[in-house]
Amino acid sequence: MSALLSSDDLNDFITPGVACIKTVDENGGGSDRPQQQVEIEIDGTGQAIEVTKEGSATRLQKASISLADCLACSGCITSAEEVLVAQHSHKEFLNALKEHRDDKLFVASISHQTRASLAAALSISVEDTDRILIKLLVDKLGFSKVVGTGLGRKISLRQMSKGVISERFGDEFERPKLSSTCPGWVMYVEKTHPFLLPHMDRAKSPQQITGLLLKRLAAREYGVKPDQIYHLSIMPCFDKKLEAARTESDSQVDVDCVITPRELVQLLEDERIDVEALLSEAREDPKLWDMSNVYECLAPRNWLKPIDSWLNDEGSASGGYAFHYLKELANHYVTKLGVNEEFLKIQLIQGRNSDIYELELVNTESSESLGKSAVINGFRNIQNMVRKIKQPGKKVLGNARGRIANRRRQRETGKKDSVGTSVDPQKCDLIEVMACPDGCINGGGQISGPSNHISSKEWVNRVLKAYESIPLGTSIDSEELEQWVTKWLDEFTVCDSRLLKTRFRNIEPPKDTTTIALTSTW
Ligand code: SF4
Ligand code: SF4
Repeated sequence: MSALLSSDDLNDFITPGVACIKTVDENGGGSDRPQQQVEIEIDGTGQAIEVTKEGSATRLQKASISLADCLACSGCITSAEEVLVAQHSHKEFLNALKEHRDDKLFVASISHQTRASLAAALSISVEDTDRILIKLLVDKLGFSKVVGTGLGRKISLRQMSKGVISERFGDEFERPKLSSTCPGWVMYVEKTHPFLLPHMDRAKSPQQITGLLLKRLAAREYGVKPDQIYHLSIMPCFDKKLEAARTESDSQVDVDCVITPRELVQLLEDERIDVEALLSEAREDPKLWDMSNVYECLAPRNWLKPIDSWLNDEGSASGGYAFHYLKELANHYVTKLGVNEEFLKIQLIQGRNSDIYELELVNTESSESLGKSAVINGFRNIQNMVRKIKQPGKKVLGNARGRIANRRRQRETGKKDSVGTSVDPQKCDLIEVMACPDGCINGGGQISGPSNHISSKEWVNRVLKAYESIPLGTSIDSEELEQWVTKWLDEFTVCDSRLLKTRFRNIEPPKDTTTIALTSTW
């Protein structure tokens, strides 16, 4: 096995913090006991006890937090690890596989970033990575269906672009609309900046759209109920576990378990599967020589163009929402407003670092700007963006280190580029916001590079290169996609908001300001 594929740092996904800021009412908050003043003490055995004024003591139960309760604030040391590991882990998945081998069918969806991470770690092509994944899931673990998340992503891209364009040409468009496909960012808004919720676009993420489509289509093909289908999602970050745990309007579960590439490595180790041997087996298996045929065969019947689900989209490595919006906007100008396509160009306006940039649709004949979108990655840049939306027009100066670096850059380049001024949110129709620096290609569940040989930036570039080696899928146009989705919704009598729109929670912010301060540094 490659030295990179080590599970040593599997449990470092939650930054150590102080305490859970989520209040948990014991027994669901429904205690019948009369309210009285009590003190919490720790007894000689280390157990928490509740002592009344009269001196009677009751041993307290350990509080438990479900994934749906957790705010992803990175505030816990062990609780969230326990929660995550207990509810969405490779061990939980293996238990489910053993327990439900006879009464459930197992299906999987795999994200493009995950495939790129494994390909970079193993120094093999993405196609060979797919061979390994399919050999493992289908031949070794008995999965019935495996798809890429490309179809879910195309639907998500289309939904977001369509929604923003319709608002943009409507009466009350308030810039900017903010993408909501990154659960880390969504939970940050819900918990810390609920004033931004009206700005959040409601297009669902590829994971959740894929989950609903996959379960329903597989269930119909095998003549079983959707809850007899177990869906494993392989994603680049742990936040996707929290996204999967959010309740749907009909309380159905579209994603049963989320694991990351790092956990996949742990799974291989636990099952004593040697990855090099698996690769040789996969390469020698004639069934896996023609991968286009494999992708076709492993998708449920009526899946739209299965090969495209494994192909890529233009734009950022987080899905390309900002780019796709301008592409659809250009299409709107051509088809609805009669602008000549030849004069339309999308140009890049690089920000002060690779995690901030704008894209602009321009009419080269009239030099008119027809629309702008932006990409903002990482919480430091996000915090600057939030301040600018909150206080439009006010210069965001950033921290001292940022200001010094900025002054040095100005001296070196002779260019003025004050911190936080490279993207003006009020001028952008849509901002693609991703919690991880470098976006999803650098998700917290991706396999780390060999830190002693290569810098983390170089490693991310290597994973990005693998991601960009996935060919673009261009055979599904917006109209065909739209028709397929409408037909699917009709056939399964599902309302469009269930498939296409996410729901936000307005979470009461914690009242203990000490905890807020301690848990809100990025
Ligand atoms: S991440 Fe935050 S909300 Fe979630 S369990 Fe930890 S402290 Fe609680
Ligand atoms: S940006 Fe990071 S946290 Fe957000 S969806 Fe992508 S990998 Fe997950």
